Amino acid sequence: MNGETEYSKAREMMVREQIERRGLRSPRLLAAFRKVPRHLFVPPDLRERAYDDGPLPIGKGQTISQPYIVALMTSLLALEGNERVLEIGTGSGYQAAILGELAREVHTVERHAGLALRAAEVLSQLGYVNVHVHTGDGSLGWPESAPYDGIVVTAAAAAPPPPLLDQLAEGGRLVLPVGHRLEQVLQVWHKQGGQLTYENIIPVSFVPLRGQYGWSESEWERYEADDWL
Ligand code: SAM
Repeated sequence: MNGETEYSKAREMMVREQIERRGLRSPRLLAAFRKVPRHLFVPPDLRERAYDDGPLPIGKGQTISQPYIVALMTSLLALEGNERVLEIGTGSGYQAAILGELAREVHTVERHAGLALRAAEVLSQLGYVNVHVHTGDGSLGWPESAPYDGIVVTAAAAAPPPPLLDQLAEGGRLVLPVGHRLEQVLQVWHKQGGQLTYENIIPVSFVPLRGQYGWSESEWERYEADDWL
């Protein structure tokens, strides 16, 4: 693929075939996916595959998630435009750009400084002045700008990290994959009247959330090792 026209065509196909056809039809959501140039968030040698129906490697053993999963997680936040949102796991910065299209202010936290730097560069080149990239342990949230109307975690935790539940605003939603290496489920947590409730959405497969409230390497690997006992 070469040239912006080819990428635009591939992006339009992605929106129609992978997102809209699977039932996500909010015009605001679809407009965001039509606008953000996903190919600029993947390594140059993988740009041809940027609009494929799956995740892609972005370095440091990490991935940019499948477009449909980014769309589903974003739709579960039910953003109307005036929210302050937190993303844990900046990775390539693609989901942060989508959130930047749909919310007033976005904070995104990445533990790998190199990935955070590259994502911040692309986001800044594209003019996302409302997206703030931070380096650190996102399992602790980002208390400086809390509370958040929406929080999305793009790595799997054993359970919702307590600091994220604390940093959720009244009426807010937390979207995250919960589970271990072999099995995870996408959950949406709601805070209403100070009470927390959650619903399970679909089975998913994510890289692990690390850090204080995430998985240690040995705990995460143990599930695979147990399989062979
Ligand atoms: N949202 C990303 C995108 O649009 O490209 C995809 C993220 S990738 C599936 C998960 C990311 O979570 C990785 O970049 C990983 O380094 C990051 N991560 C894992 N544990 C973390 C933690 N405790 N704090 C911040 N980032 C973390």
